[in-house]
Amino acid sequence: MAPEKMMFIDPHIHMTSRTTDDYARMQEAGIVAIIEPSFWLGQPRTEIGSFKDYFSSLLGWERFRASQFGIKHYCTIGLNSKEANNEALAEQVMELLPLFVLKEGVVGVGEIGYDDQTAAEDKYYRLQLDLAKEVGLPVQIHTPHRDKKAGTIRSMKVAMEHGIKPHMVIVDHNNEETVKDTLDGGFWAAFTIYPNSKMGNERMVEIVKQYGTERIIVNSSADWGVSDPLSVPKTASLMLERGIPAEDVRMVCYQNALDAFGQSGQMNESDWLQPANVDQRDKFQDNSVLRGGQTPVVGEFKTRNELKENIVK
Ligand SMILES: [Zn+2]
Repeated sequence: MAPEKMMFIDPHIHMTSRTTDDYARMQEAGIVAIIEPSFWLGQPRTEIGSFKDYFSSLLGWERFRASQFGIKHYCTIGLNSKEANNEALAEQVMELLPLFVLKEGVVGVGEIGYDDQTAAEDKYYRLQLDLAKEVGLPVQIHTPHRDKKAGTIRSMKVAMEHGIKPHMVIVDHNNEETVKDTLDGGFWAAFTIYPNSKMGNERMVEIVKQYGTERIIVNSSADWGVSDPLSVPKTASLMLERGIPAEDVRMVCYQNALDAFGQSGQMNESDWLQPANVDQRDKFQDNSVLRGGQTPVVGEFKTRNELKENIVK
């Protein structure tokens, strides 16, 4: 695991689909802050109320839950590309977004962009770029899995057309095929380390060796699928092992994410530099993260070793 005292940010992770065990392991591995982009839930939403409750949970319950394990939680708010294809619903979501994007802890409009590159996806991507520009927030772009290179180039071109400056755009899920165009355009190039697909951490090491650390960001995008919430610290650890200097690792696994999303004015290092004072006796709207008979952690959060065992006394 990562060396003592190294701090990490995972700027793309869907904690709504993860458990408190993940939070505890992430905190133990050095993750101090995370960003949760709005995404689809696997099951398509059929009502506007589902979006409203989801956005509210990203800003409320999920942030509270993270805080109970000593992690600062931020989010990006947007209509995801897949669900843009339900146009009747998408129209209603567009009306809802302005009510959420300026709330405390929202560090961008995201994740938006293309999935199948349909006309509807294009329409709602453009509308959300306008919204981001209007409120001065960074944009977090999800690039498609199919036809990735063309989709990535198109995403950047359309952002430019809408007058968004490249330094305000974080292009996600890059790979060897897209990294050069993304960096040459002046955009932030984020990489998702996924088991078996997207990007492996050995390949990530090679990217940093080849392209350096400027505007390069590592994330896990861990969600309800086969994914790993420890991808960022594990990749950092591999980078160090393969001879990448610690300062470079700090750039791609911490500082660049902070610089990119810090442009929102909503995310500052001072938010987590004081040791988080956790009090698991706290409640959010009458709910705590504990279940009956569990002992609350009060003070600095430290993972209990029992977590690794599966014996309940
Ligand atoms: Zn995502």
